[in-house]
Amino acid sequence: MDSELSLEKKIRELGLDIYSSIREVPPALDTRRWMGKIMEWSMKDKDFKTRLFRFIDVLPSLKTDELIVRLLHEYFTDVDTPKIIRGAIERISRQGFLPKMTATLVRKSVESLARQFIAGKDPEDALNSLAALGKENLAFSIDLLGETVVSDKEARNYQERYLDLVGFLRGEIGESVDTGSGHDISLKISSFYSQLDPVDWFGSVKQTKEALRPILRKAKELCISVTFDMEHYYYKDLTIAVFQSLLEENEFEALPLSGIALQAYLKDTKEDLLRLIGWAKEKSRRVTVRLVKGAYWDYEVVINRQKGWPVPVFLNKEETDRNFEELTKILLENTRFVSPAIATHNIRSISYALALADFLSLPKEAFEFQMLYGMAEPLREALQRIRCTVRVYAPVGGLIPGMAYLVRRLLENTSNESFLRRSFVEKSPFEELIQAPQTPQKAEVGRSLSGAFRNEPDLDFSLSKNREKMADALKDMRNEFNKRYPLFISGGEILTDGETVSLNPSAPHEVIGRVSFGQKKEAEEAIEGATKACKEWRRTDPKERAEYLLRTAAKMRQKKFELAALEIYEVGKTWKDADADVSEAIDYLEFYSREMIRLGKPKILGDYPGEENEYVYNPRGIGVVISPWNFPLAISTGMVSAGIVAGNCVIFKPSGLSPVTGYKLVEIFSLCGLPHGVLQFLPGSGEEVGEYLVSHPKIDFIAFTGSRDVGLRIIRVAGETRKGQRSVKKIIAEMGGKNAIIIDETADLDEAVKGVIESALGYQGQKCSACSRVIVVGDIIKVFLNRLKGAAESIQIGPPEEPGTFMGPVVDKEALKKTKGYVEIGKNEGKEVLIRAVQEEGYFLGPAIFADAPPESRIAQEEIFGPVLAVMKAKDIEEALEIANMTSYSLSGGLFSRTPSVIKKVKDEFRVGNLYINRKITGALVGRQPFGGFGMSGVGSKAGGPDYLLQFMNPVCISENTLRRGFAPLE
Ligand code: NAD
Repeated sequence: MDSELSLEKKIRELGLDIYSSIREVPPALDTRRWMGKIMEWSMKDKDFKTRLFRFIDVLPSLKTDELIVRLLHEYFTDVDTPKIIRGAIERISRQGFLPKMTATLVRKSVESLARQFIAGKDPEDALNSLAALGKENLAFSIDLLGETVVSDKEARNYQERYLDLVGFLRGEIGESVDTGSGHDISLKISSFYSQLDPVDWFGSVKQTKEALRPILRKAKELCISVTFDMEHYYYKDLTIAVFQSLLEENEFEALPLSGIALQAYLKDTKEDLLRLIGWAKEKSRRVTVRLVKGAYWDYEVVINRQKGWPVPVFLNKEETDRNFEELTKILLENTRFVSPAIATHNIRSISYALALADFLSLPKEAFEFQMLYGMAEPLREALQRIRCTVRVYAPVGGLIPGMAYLVRRLLENTSNESFLRRSFVEKSPFEELIQAPQTPQKAEVGRSLSGAFRNEPDLDFSLSKNREKMADALKDMRNEFNKRYPLFISGGEILTDGETVSLNPSAPHEVIGRVSFGQKKEAEEAIEGATKACKEWRRTDPKERAEYLLRTAAKMRQKKFELAALEIYEVGKTWKDADADVSEAIDYLEFYSREMIRLGKPKILGDYPGEENEYVYNPRGIGVVISPWNFPLAISTGMVSAGIVAGNCVIFKPSGLSPVTGYKLVEIFSLCGLPHGVLQFLPGSGEEVGEYLVSHPKIDFIAFTGSRDVGLRIIRVAGETRKGQRSVKKIIAEMGGKNAIIIDETADLDEAVKGVIESALGYQGQKCSACSRVIVVGDIIKVFLNRLKGAAESIQIGPPEEPGTFMGPVVDKEALKKTKGYVEIGKNEGKEVLIRAVQEEGYFLGPAIFADAPPESRIAQEEIFGPVLAVMKAKDIEEALEIANMTSYSLSGGLFSRTPSVIKKVKDEFRVGNLYINRKITGALVGRQPFGGFGMSGVGSKAGGPDYLLQFMNPVCISENTLRRGFAPLE
């Protein structure tokens, strides 16, 4: 206790010394300069800050002066902009400033803002800034900024830039700048391998190491240290693994002190640090640990919440600060194994490190401080005055790649919790600044679920336990191959002579299962059984019916790995896609059960004494569910569960290409005690048993998802009234799409390329929402196509049971033949950008990209359902929309743009059921993005939305006269 008090005392003393020796405000926050003024407005006005940062983000990609002026107006001239800025922009227009002059002024201003935080465009350009740092006796670590790496080519380019940098540091900079503390470079592993993903742990480690070895070799030769930066949490364990495994290699044993950054905002970091120290001890190594607070806080909170994963960061800034101190202590107590680099601008955190070092009698050389280029200059001077080593983290890079970094710095400077803001702008009193970080009084309160619907989280494959379970499930599933599966009618299993043989599309000699084949006779039995079961089932309380769904959801959750493994083999989905399909199936069960509880309560209409008007929903009767193979569990589960929870009995016919997954769904319902006859399993031929059911007079509704031609045929056949038929059949038909993404010249190309690759090539383009047309506005098409091609060449194609696979096989021989046919058509209709050959056994086919196909050509009009993409050019957004709306389908569509008026126009005029802005167009989530189209893409309300269940029920209104002999019960 005593020592704690005296430590606090020391912290205050040292803090006060530093505080009182600070005379200046950092230039970035100096309100006498225009830059500081802008920062000040951003701090005062949140909305202005958002616009400003968004404008800065888009600016470098604007190719023409006219566009800069237009966006300047769009972002800043409405009523919410601070008057002074609005006035200035309006004045510029009034005075007839030419766009060229305005654009130049704007560009120069943002460049000088960037210059504040970025040392130079490239190492040569940064030479003067670095020399200036050297003169001040500051060490530095150089980080090369870059765009998101989407292809092997871009990763190689990055590697070369780093190799040049190392040479440059020893050469020109080495000669002119030598601070005695050694040069350091900082790098991020995601820049060196375009397919980096912990799902493919071994592949990612191997490829990244391969790319980094030449850099480490050169660094070793030239005596330059290397620090591995930490990025998003998803890459954290992978980064540590790559770092350690490289350093364990013989040739890098003698590498000059190298290091890794650890983030104090992560709850895991203490454990990681202790493990790292243990490892250094065991290997007799000494490594630098750059302790930072963490720069991706907002991202981690948003993304992990979106995914339904635990948020890995402390939600309270004080907790991060407290953790920072705890980690500093561990570092300073272990300087035999780690060389601490305390990276912060916070006087309290700095003073804590200094006081503790003093207590531990550590010499000043035992650790160093690190600060960011362009921030907190007065602080670093204060530290130098007390003879501490200070290293500046100096990013180097062009404006486009620099923007993400710049915006992060601006956010940091202007955020409410920023220490710099509190000390230099708000001038908080010293007492407040030096206070020990407090633990929050209340424990972190998670949002109460209280029964509300939440999407089922996908598996986090950055966790080794999930990767291991998936690998085990895949192994176990092989023992299930070639089994026979029966029909399931009225609770009885029926094995038939005829079978559907389900094959593994990656290795068609492997039989996943043999599923009995229903015919007319079995269809009649199923209808008869359903008719009997229906009497009781429709009377079952909606809540009870909903509970069957919830039990089924719980069971599916238990069997998640097993079901995903089955999909990987049966329909060629990758690990992530298969897992997402199971999550979506669980979502439907959870969502529709809650919907039924909502709709199951009778509504009382109006308020009239003596009369009671009740509005209720009754089941329709007996329905047929006909499903496709491409989301073999999710779509089937959605349609089946909606049908039965609404009180109907359902006959389920799965696709002939995914009958084993279909069987599993019925088996799980049955395990959960669903009464016999409520759900009948009747696989068989679509044309025969499917059509027989559709046309049967006892069928009341049909829920179909599949292709347009089959859907239209079903609508026609079901429309005919047959003898004995009691109801006009209700049809819910979700059909195909020919989905387009529009990209304009203000798009973030990193995001656009990634979004198109995922939307067009994910699951080999076999999603109904897949992108098969891209319409590019303006003159960015060349750059876009180049990057897209590079990315498509880099993705991994192979058996999806391999975790690194991005593209597996198409589903069967027919699909392969059909898609290859379209590739031939594409060669005639457009200009070949890429036709990637693949040599695998199985139904594999590489991506094919064609440019300049006319909008009315076949590859731009017909649903291909394979990895074939038509890229077209439009002169402006009007033409782009015209092309986009030119098909009869209206399912999903997307836009990548950072122009507000374009976003608005596309929202108003793009005729699709699901529109996505600045993100991929696949992966709709139940409850969040109810899914479904119109036009030739379907009839019916959106799956996973609030209107869906209504289609499975008849609304009934019951009016009762409650007045008896002049007496009415009063409320
Ligand atoms: P498909 O139309 O070939 O088959 C769908 C189902 O219909 C299968 O179960 C099949 O056996 C059955 N069927 C075939 N002929 C039939 C007939 N005459 N009568 C009754 N049933 C019959 O489609 P698919 O190849 O399984 O799936 C791919 C198609 O589904 C694509 O067009 C895709 O866009 C579409 N799809 C749409 C959505 C959506 O929500 N809009 C979702 C997934 C898939």
